Amino acid sequence: MKSLREELWFSTNTRRAYINISGKVQEVIDKSGIKEGLCLVNAMHITASVYINDDEPGLIKDYDDWLEKLAPHEPLSLYRHNNTGEDNGDAHHKRQIMGREVVVAITKGKLDFGPWEQIFYGEFDGRRRKRVLVKVIGE
Ligand code: ZN
Repeated sequence: MKSLREELWFSTNTRRAYINISGKVQEVIDKSGIKEGLCLVNAMHITASVYINDDEPGLIKDYDDWLEKLAPHEPLSLYRHNNTGEDNGDAHHKRQIMGREVVVAITKGKLDFGPWEQIFYGEFDGRRRKRVLVKVIGE
């Protein structure tokens, strides 16, 4: 069995961002040479997510509005976590809702997606360098 581990780094200009990383993940698979296997993609930070859904601007804005309704950034006093001196109590909740990781089958060297599926990096406390782990296994 072959395997490859890579990190993808991000630094968003905004506190929250939603980035389609499908192309970058496919590049890792291409580099691995693996044709049949599995690909794990996970956020390495507890205030960011990796999830799969549609790359449709309306939906992404809807997610952002929905997450902000469920776990608004302000008032900061809403979260006990912010008593630590941090201001990202909301981001921990947003990450919990949107998830940590995805696993996608690799078939004939390609991500084996269902219709409209794309892999996204969801950033909820950006403006600093953060990373995503990609682990490919197979043969
Ligand atoms: Zn925190």
